[in-house]
Amino acid sequence: MATSLTSVLIIYTGGTIGMAQNPVTGALEPFNFHHLLDNVPELRLLGSSISTIQFEPPIDSSEIEPSQWARLVYLISENYDLFDGFVVLHGTDTMAYTASAVSFMLENLSKPVIFTGSQLPIGVLRTDGKENLITAIEIASAKYPDGKPVVPEVCIFFENSLMRGNRTSKISAENFNAFASPNYPLLAQVGVHISYDESEIRRPDETKPLKAHYSMDNNIAVLKLYPGISRQAVHQILGIPGLKGVVMETFGAGNAPKCEWFLTELREAIQRGIVIVNVTQCNSGSVQMGLYSTGNTLLGCGVLSGYDSTTEAAIAKLMFLFGHGLSPEEVAKAMNRSFVGEITIPDE
Ligand code: ASP
Repeated sequence: MATSLTSVLIIYTGGTIGMAQNPVTGALEPFNFHHLLDNVPELRLLGSSISTIQFEPPIDSSEIEPSQWARLVYLISENYDLFDGFVVLHGTDTMAYTASAVSFMLENLSKPVIFTGSQLPIGVLRTDGKENLITAIEIASAKYPDGKPVVPEVCIFFENSLMRGNRTSKISAENFNAFASPNYPLLAQVGVHISYDESEIRRPDETKPLKAHYSMDNNIAVLKLYPGISRQAVHQILGIPGLKGVVMETFGAGNAPKCEWFLTELREAIQRGIVIVNVTQCNSGSVQMGLYSTGNTLLGCGVLSGYDSTTEAAIAKLMFLFGHGLSPEEVAKAMNRSFVGEITIPDE
């Protein structure tokens, strides 16, 4: 029996991966993804039919804004029925933010959306781009014998590791191993074989149709605490006109100073309807606000636990929820729920 070829759409948004050296001048120039198969002939060996779309012009990911997340979501949803999986090529700098945002914006996703990029351009000799691209396509094409995709999630694949996108952070500006998923296990490890950890991969309800969301509200700020932070700094951030949500990066398991001026600033902001979410500055671990009196006091002021969320996912989630016009009370309630596996709530 003939099996139909798996089809993958590659969306190139920009970033280092899409660069090649001009053989004459030696300069790095954006590579034309419409000629991908000529430039990466290895792709012909994959058993997938590959189509490409590229952002015009390609953008460095440090320039990405929610409007480009919406563009990406639009491209995926418009092509959703035509392809088995999607590979998004994106600069590494803000890939964790985009993957987090897109994971919320593509409600009921039941196909793979695999982000990747590279530290070295695809057109230079020691590039990590080819391997990342080829494996990302393999993962986006992977199906069980019954035709269901192996990884129906928004993920980042980078240097041997497949991670849930909204659990990632960029951890190195130098190493090929540039991303980590500190609070959630890898979804697959890639060596000679791709070994999937099926128990950690989300299984969506495939009967529900994809629902694309486009509206993100960027009236959000990050307040990173440090010893000696001044009242003026806290006051100015919490007083930003139109501010709706704050991701507060605290110490350790969610601790912050207990001095009265600080607590007063927080209480007043919360009374004004600002939602404040507590995430840890540590690279891994979870906020446990009941653990120390310093964390407990925050709870008493109305600060919410961000559990083990990354800052990237907490920002994206607040933008998404406020983008839907929810009230502060509704947002506060929703922050205590895992939407797409972005947080671990104890006892869940
Ligand atoms: N500045 C680049 C970007 O994020 C770096 C990269 O692609 O890795 O677009």
